[in-house]
Amino acid sequence: MIHFKKGTAALLALSLLFSLAACGGGDPVPTTSATPQPVPTQSEEPEPEDSTEPTMPPVPLVPWGPDQVVEHLFFHPVIAYPQWAFHDCPSSQSQKEGLDDWMVTVEEYNKILQSVYEKNYILVSMNDVWSEVTDENGVARMQRNTLMIPQGKKPLIISFDDTNYYDYMLEEGFTSKLVLGSDGEIWAECTDPYTQETFLTQDLDAITILDKFVREHPDFSLNGVKGCLSLTGYQGILGYRTQNDIDIGENDPARPAFDANREKERAAVRPIVQRLKETGWYFGSHTWGHINLANSSMERIQRDTRRWAEEVGSLVGETNILFYPHGARPDGDHDQGENYGEQFKWLQSQGFRIFASVGISSYSQVKKSISAVICDRLHPDGTTLRGGRNGKTLQQYIQFYDCREIIDLESRPNLGVTWSW
Ligand SMILES: [Zn+2]
Repeated sequence: MIHFKKGTAALLALSLLFSLAACGGGDPVPTTSATPQPVPTQSEEPEPEDSTEPTMPPVPLVPWGPDQVVEHLFFHPVIAYPQWAFHDCPSSQSQKEGLDDWMVTVEEYNKILQSVYEKNYILVSMNDVWSEVTDENGVARMQRNTLMIPQGKKPLIISFDDTNYYDYMLEEGFTSKLVLGSDGEIWAECTDPYTQETFLTQDLDAITILDKFVREHPDFSLNGVKGCLSLTGYQGILGYRTQNDIDIGENDPARPAFDANREKERAAVRPIVQRLKETGWYFGSHTWGHINLANSSMERIQRDTRRWAEEVGSLVGETNILFYPHGARPDGDHDQGENYGEQFKWLQSQGFRIFASVGISSYSQVKKSISAVICDRLHPDGTTLRGGRNGKTLQQYIQFYDCREIIDLESRPNLGVTWSW
């Protein structure tokens, strides 16, 4: 059993020793003589206890094994101004209903975070849940790891698709970009659609809201992990227009000005990426062009993947996580086992190992004949908050929250629900 006690260096060092012993895979029972004991010396005064810090009982870490499900929820950017997004903005009715289908509002998101926290979930990283191991014959395969998590907690992955701050979102009541505040923290830039006033906030953006939530509830995160940001590239990343425009040729008179502006945007986003990484965020690919991988030609997929590496990977670093746009999977789906197509094999050859789709549960499957894992994510959004077909999603999400208590029917368009009280 590993115990951590806040603020006591000696105990922490000791627990690290125990931790190494416990995970070493050797003799699981340490002998008394081999266990280091802290020996207080007479010349050293014991450190006085910091009386302002409440004494927390040590929380034992317990294993969460490979056969236990790690839940996975994903969000799109959250709607900062619901009245604007659903009703007042000049977008078409079908566009507004798209927002209703695929997004949650800030208020709904806050309630969801609070609920999963109260239900004892703790955020973990996809890179800790699965990793690649190479056997003695040099064959690499993905494996589901055993996580060590505080007793009573359940691991949860959260990912965020399309954290690019697309042009259309800026017109429909979302925040417009991430920035680094003078306090060194991540803030979101936002323009009030009614007054056109631009300001910085941490209360209207999914990323800064989660940062704040973990600051206030550190036990919601294992080792400070937050979430995975799934990025396309066609309108840059994180609100910065870092994309190339290949229609502007080398000798085009517009090229120098375009390049200068693009370089400025790339320079501006780098410290944001850096700070996000320092504070528990990590990145995955959502393809450059948000393409449907299940019905795109190999040539298109290859071109798209290279472009993501050049324009996005060059800023956020390499990733082995691919989030399928539209949930469309080129991996032969669940039932077909090891029967997957050329596109999937090629994407795997480019370094992708974790392939995430969308489903009705946090299903995952480690492939046996190729180093890859496929996994599904649940999707808190209008379609599931409204109950889905026959109110089924009420039960599918009840372990996280009661969608009847989350959905903001006063802000959302009047499209009905399929659940009942
Ligand atoms: Zn998407």
